[in-house]
Amino acid sequence: MNAIIFGAPGSGKGTYASRLQAKLGLTVIAMGDIFRETVKQETELGKKVKGYVEKGLLVPDDIVIEVLKEHVAKVPEGKGFLLDGFPRTLDQAKVLEKIAKIDVIILLMVPDWIIVERLSTRRICHNCGAVYNTRFLKPKVDMVCDKCGGPLYQRPDDTPEVIKKRIEVYEAQTRPILQFFREGTVPFVVASCDALDTPPEKVVDAIMKDLRELSLA
Ligand SMILES: [Zn+2]
Repeated sequence: MNAIIFGAPGSGKGTYASRLQAKLGLTVIAMGDIFRETVKQETELGKKVKGYVEKGLLVPDDIVIEVLKEHVAKVPEGKGFLLDGFPRTLDQAKVLEKIAKIDVIILLMVPDWIIVERLSTRRICHNCGAVYNTRFLKPKVDMVCDKCGGPLYQRPDDTPEVIKKRIEVYEAQTRPILQFFREGTVPFVVASCDALDTPPEKVVDAIMKDLRELSLA
């Protein structure tokens, strides 16, 4: 099974992707992580990508697609992938259809207020990158990392105004892509999270149930 997962920043997409990976034996292709890694490498591609990123430009589609193809080719025979962070444009969606058959779209629906609440209470360790939350995952000592004793900070873009803006950007960007797949024959599995304390297992179980009904799990 080849799937694409869509969800706003702060929807918990990464968490769900890794849980689905474990349950379904899928290869997660997370384009954001892949590009961060690519930039660190001293390869021709790494240098090219770095050039765009440093100038604050979007990496052109042909490069993004080249990288995607490389990773799709690495998926073990007979296994599927779960794509995260791609496609970001309608053109990319059209190219993707030619590269691989997409069997299902997994769409995470998390109300804006939950995302704002989750991200604006997030605190990160300056030293080791551990993630805390002032409501659910408090450190033992205020603003100090349990793991390494480092100072915690709030990302400057984790404020309600900026979070709302990021959600708007995501929705505007994603709408035509979802429309494109909806007009095709790709089925959707919609996973809703409507409470702040909905455990991830509950959402993953609902996704698994829908995938079984589609004979994909
Ligand atoms: Zn730490």
